[in-house]
This record gives sequence, C-alpha cells and structure tokens, in this order.
Amino acid sequence: ERFKIRRALLSVSDKEGLEKLAQRLAAHGVELVSTGGTAKAIKAAGLDVRDVSDLTGYPEMMDGRVKTLHPAVHGGLLFRRDLDTHIQDAETHGIVPIDLVYINLYPFEATVAGGADFETCIENIDIGGPAMLRAAAKNGDSVAVCTDREDVLAVLGEMDSGKGLIPRALGRKLAAKTYARTAAYDAAISGWYAAQLEENAPDWMAFGGGLSQSLRYGENPHQSAAFYKTGDKRPGVSNARQVQGKELSYNNINDTDAAYELIGELGDETPAVAIIKHANPCGVALGETAIEAYRQALACDSTSAFGGIVALNRMLDAETAEEITKVFTEVVIAPGADNGALSVFEKKKNLRLLLTNGIPDPSARGKVVKSVAGGLLVQDRDFGRIDIEDLRVVTDKAPSEQELKDLIFAWRVAKHVKSNTIVYAKDLATVGIGAGQMSRIDSARIAARKAEDAAEVAGWPEPKTKGCVAASDAFFPFPDGLLQAASAGATAVIQPGGSIRDEEVIKAANEAGIAMVLTGMRHFRH
Ligand code: 5GP
Repeated sequence: ERFKIRRALLSVSDKEGLEKLAQRLAAHGVELVSTGGTAKAIKAAGLDVRDVSDLTGYPEMMDGRVKTLHPAVHGGLLFRRDLDTHIQDAETHGIVPIDLVYINLYPFEATVAGGADFETCIENIDIGGPAMLRAAAKNGDSVAVCTDREDVLAVLGEMDSGKGLIPRALGRKLAAKTYARTAAYDAAISGWYAAQLEENAPDWMAFGGGLSQSLRYGENPHQSAAFYKTGDKRPGVSNARQVQGKELSYNNINDTDAAYELIGELGDETPAVAIIKHANPCGVALGETAIEAYRQALACDSTSAFGGIVALNRMLDAETAEEITKVFTEVVIAPGADNGALSVFEKKKNLRLLLTNGIPDPSARGKVVKSVAGGLLVQDRDFGRIDIEDLRVVTDKAPSEQELKDLIFAWRVAKHVKSNTIVYAKDLATVGIGAGQMSRIDSARIAARKAEDAAEVAGWPEPKTKGCVAASDAFFPFPDGLLQAASAGATAVIQPGGSIRDEEVIKAANEAGIAMVLTGMRHFRH
C-alpha cells in the first residue's frame, strides 16, 4: 500500500529552507509546479519549475487572490487513482496528477498579532492554500500533504529509503494533521472577524466614539498616549470647546475631568469652584458669587493650587477671571465666559480655557473603565448621592442646620477625593483635605496639618478646622480617626457607618461631645 510521487505542487509564504527541499524532490525525478513567488525562489536555486499558470491556462490574478483555484489543480489533487471513471475524467480534461503538496499559508495569525488594520488582515486570509490542503488531505491515500518543512522531510525520508514510494499510513497521518491546521487557521479568522463587528466591540466604540487625539505623551514623557472618546454627550472634558491655550496634555485631561465631575456633584444652584491638583481637590467652595467661591477654595490650600485646574459651575466674569489668573493655572473649565472674562484670559496665552454646555449630572448612569495587567475593569460610574433626608443621626447631639449643610457639602467633596479621605469643611468651603492615605487616621492628621499650614500662610489666628465638620469616605474602623478629627476641632462628622466597631465609634463621638450622622453609603475612589 504505497504510492508514488510524480509531481509536487509547492506554494509557500514562508520560503525558509525551500531550496533544499525542492532540490531533494527534483533529485527523485519529481516535477515541480509552483505559484509565482515560490517558483521564483526555486528558479533562483537553478532548478526546473513549472508555473502553475502553465497548468491552469490562467495567469495569477486579482493580486494573487486567484492563483490555484482551478480544476487543473484541484482535479489533479482530488481524482481517485483507483477508479477508472476518475482516471477517465482526468484524461478527458487533460488533468495530470499532483501527488505531493507543500503549502504554508499566508501568515494570518502573525498579521493579526502584529496589530495590522482590517484591510491588511483580510488580505492575509489564504484562500487557495487551505482549499488545496483540504483537497489533498481528502485524497490522503494517494497524495502526501505537507503543511510544514518537517512534513516534507518525513516524506523525503520515505522516498529515500523506499524507492520513491510513500506508505499510505504516512499519507493518512499527514491528512489528519492538515485538517487540524486548516481548522485552527479558520478558527483564528473567525475569532478575529467576530471581534471586528460593532456589536462585539467595546461600548465606547459602538457609541460612535473612537480615537480623538494623539497626545504628546502620557503621564510621563517616555509614555506615548492618546485620547479616545466614547461619544458620551454628558458635559465634560471630552466635549468641551477649547477657546484658547496650549494643547491639553494627558494629565490636563485627567485632572480636568476630576475637577468637572466634582463641580457636577455640587450642582448649579449656588456658585461653586473646585481647584484640582493631581486629580485631587486642594480646595472646593460654594459662595454668594463665583469670585467669593474661588477665594474660599483657594484659601484652603493656596500653596498646592499653583499649576492647578480650576472648575466652576457658572459663567465666568471678568472679575473672577482676573482673580484666577493671579495664580498660575493650567486649565480653567466652566459652562461659559462673558466677553470681559475672555479678554482677561486672552492675556494669558498658555492658559487652556475650556467651555462646556452645562455641568455633568452626577446621578447619570454610565460606565468607567480601568485597566489591570491583561484586563479591563468596568463598573458603573459612582452615581450614588446622599441628601440630608438620608442621614441618620446616631449621637446624643444632633448637628445644627449649618452643620448639616456643611456635612452634605463635605460628603460630596469627599466622594471625589482619593481614598482614604478625610475632608474638613466650614461655611460651605473645604478647610483641610487629606487624600489617598493608606490609613484613615493619617488622612485625618494630614487634613488637619494642611489647615494649620493654610492659617499660617494667611496669617489667621487659628486654623479654620476649629468648629468645622468632617467627612470620611468610608467607615471609621476604630475610634482613633474620629478622635483625630475631634481634636482638630470638628464638631460634627459624616461617615457611612457599617463597621463592627460602630458602637465604639459612636461612644467616642458622644464622649467627645460631637454630632455624627451615617450615610449608609461609602465612596471609595482609587
Ligand atoms: P507565492 O509566494 O508562491 O506567490 O504564494 C504562496 C502563497 O500563496 C501560499 O501561502 C499559498 O497558500 C497561497 N496561495 C496559493 N494559491 C492561492 C490562491 O489561489 N489564492 C490565494 N489567496 N492564495 C493562494
């Protein structure tokens, strides 16, 4: 049960080692037939080779999309050598047997892995190659089908030792391997193609968004970066109109987003200003007027405000613009600016001024995405919102009207500060912010320290934490954080509650004579 190799069709994308194999086949008196590039390589080695177009009577066409798709090729591979009717058909149509194929396919997988675009990937889908492989494998009892160099070497080994004859068992083994290869190839194509469909694309692409801007660099100069937009219509940094100033950087976009999301949280009833540094607020205030709110926000930490982002919930006026430009500011974002404000900013050529059509709704649903090694974390935007009615007083003392207003204000600011967060506030302005510490007590200490520094800078007789309120983004695991706030001067505290030591914490609050309310909701932000 052996078969002879009279004619071999070689068509390979990866031409490594091709010459040697062709030479050894030719030495056995095998006629070589080949497609364009492969034939060229074989000829270059000084061997005789027949162009496949000589066999088919058709030239290769359509950029190589059609080279071997012809009865002369497929008949030569498929006709049964043991059936008279098949032999008759072959003779009638001048079809000659092809007893060996060596085909490696267009490198579709490698093309995709290299990040090629859609068109390039499509062009790297091999059509004729898999068709010939499947045909040859179907006739594996009479055709040696080789998908890689090792296969050809195995066939040559048999030819060398068996007078040019191939055992049928080897033909079947190669056929089985071939179908595994074409199945894997098709699986790679179907997997890739499914991912190209809009319905399978990540949400933000389906929105009609996409690459908006290549950025000069990322968080640091050695990191390349780009800004992709989701198409979300919510007012914010992605759809603001830049009126003037240098191009937004990666950090500008990130910080401006943090600033404007916080402004959204504060609503538009009362003038509000937030000053942001490294995505954390360094001062937030409500005021009778925009300029008053700005001054209060700045007073919280005027040292850190240098090089910051300023966000407002109001139309900018000349007076406020004048006040803002006294401090070096990277970005100003607001729902509008009057002509007076515009001409003030014009003098600061580098200052980036962004105008929006409104402020973001803090309760609007949406997704936020964060990447981790090998994956994306997707969650709802933190749309949680607490009102005065939701608060539960747990201490002997209840907060006063003013304290309640300050507590809600501090709570809303705390939602936009990196955890662990302690925010001290008084008269609807932050007076000390402790951000991003690994322990809550450290955040409480840092917030108090910052209030002391602010008093020193401004020449106040005492820090504004005296008689302030305190907000904690998550529960106090121990009374120590609460006691720290009390010693800084807080008279009322807002926190989620839910610790197994709540009772201890409440007891400590009562002993310190301060009021405490629980929200039942936490605002981790990492
Ligand atoms: P060559 O470099 O010889 O011009 O092309 C070799 C490649 O063409 C091989 O990877 C082979 O699988 C592929 N091929 C052979 N026939 C056809 C065909 O008719 N259509 C397409 N798209 N590819 C083919």
